[in-house]
Amino acid sequence: MEFKAQKMDHHNPGVKCVVNTCHYYAQGDYCNAERIEVHHRNAKNSQETDCATFSPK
Ligand code: SF4
Repeated sequence: MEFKAQKMDHHNPGVKCVVNTCHYYAQGDYCNAERIEVHHRNAKNSQETDCATFSPK
């Protein structure tokens, strides 16, 4: 399930992300999405979570 967001012309100051294959990724490990959504409900550890805003480049 993909979560759409506006791509900003600046970094989202609250997010560090290393997913350099994402449309929203910015050099220096930043995210330029205005907002992100994280799944999944009932995850037991960080490996079971993922960014639903991810969109391939
Ligand atoms: S949308 Fe998610 S995966 Fe993409 S750069 Fe931002 S935090 Fe990373």
